[in-house]
Amino acid sequence: MTLMSLWAAITRAIRRRERRLLTAVQRTDGIELLVQASRKPVLRDDWPDGFDYVCGHCKKMVIASCVTGGQIWDLAFQCFRCKGISLSPVLPLQLLPPSPPPPPPRRLLPTRRRPRGRHQERGQPFGHGAQLLRHVVESSAP
Ligand SMILES: [Zn+2]
Repeated sequence: MTLMSLWAAITRAIRRRERRLLTAVQRTDGIELLVQASRKPVLRDDWPDGFDYVCGHCKKMVIASCVTGGQIWDLAFQCFRCKGISLSPVLPLQLLPPSPPPPPPRRLLPTRRRPRGRHQERGQPFGHGAQLLRHVVESSAP
């Protein structure tokens, strides 16, 4: 095996990520809605063992790319392709604080730390390394 073919095998392995379906819903019930404005995923990360979240309606469009379990909670996404709305997993009960503080709990829990360069600054809403691409954030009225 040459170095080139080894490299090709590695990149193939990286690209073949697990795909998980988001939950297809008709409306968001007040959950923050992230509208996918192009074919690019709304959310992108680069976890080595990450997976892709795909639209629960058309099951084709990648909404969040290479994210990790526990990174996305309680968010709604509108698919660019079919305009369907999908929900991410909801926050597990055992992770909720004992009494709800006035602002809603962080939807995206911090995950394990790893050395990062340019995305290290505080205030990143989607965990380390996450890049929120061009999108429109809407809060749907209840
Ligand atoms: Zn879709």
